[in-house]
Amino acid sequence: MCDVFHHAVQSAESPRDRVVILAHCIMNQATRARWEGGGATRTKGAIEEIVTPLLEHGVGIIQMECPEQTLYGNPRPPKSRDDYDTPEFKEKCREIAVRAMQTIEKSTELIAALGFEGSPSCGVERTTRTIKGSHAESPGEGHLIEALRQEMREKGLDAPIIGVGLREGEMNLALRKLESLLRG
Ligand code: SF4
Repeated sequence: MCDVFHHAVQSAESPRDRVVILAHCIMNQATRARWEGGGATRTKGAIEEIVTPLLEHGVGIIQMECPEQTLYGNPRPPKSRDDYDTPEFKEKCREIAVRAMQTIEKSTELIAALGFEGSPSCGVERTTRTIKGSHAESPGEGHLIEALRQEMREKGLDAPIIGVGLREGEMNLALRKLESLLRG
């Protein structure tokens, strides 16, 4: 086999780069909403339990923009998925999802997208709704995850979307799912 052909075969067979897409605040909890007298549940800095295994497995991290921070800054009042059901907010979420997709090339393998449970934007299994005039947690996904799912579908990507949560059960479940993908 000539050297040029041998090199081409090696390149074709070399493993693809693996990446995940993350909700912004998994890397930067400072964007979690805070308001006078309160704030969304958060930890400090980045969520180490999630970031550490990604670094250990050499997986690239695509951090999406935080739509709430970009449009409304922080502090900002607590809002529900219904409060954010506006053309402006949904268009921002679509833009962010499109930009995340633009970073996925044929040479990269998207192994998962990670949202953030409870959020009106990034919740995967659990979001916040307005029910009988009050904010309440509710099953369902947030606007950004909905937009991301749509963009992934259009690009033919069927990677799982996992909800990271600071509640012990949610964190353990997210870690189990992530670790099995990282080993795969
Ligand atoms: S909108 Fe998403 S990224 Fe921004 S703080 Fe909320 S959960 Fe995190």
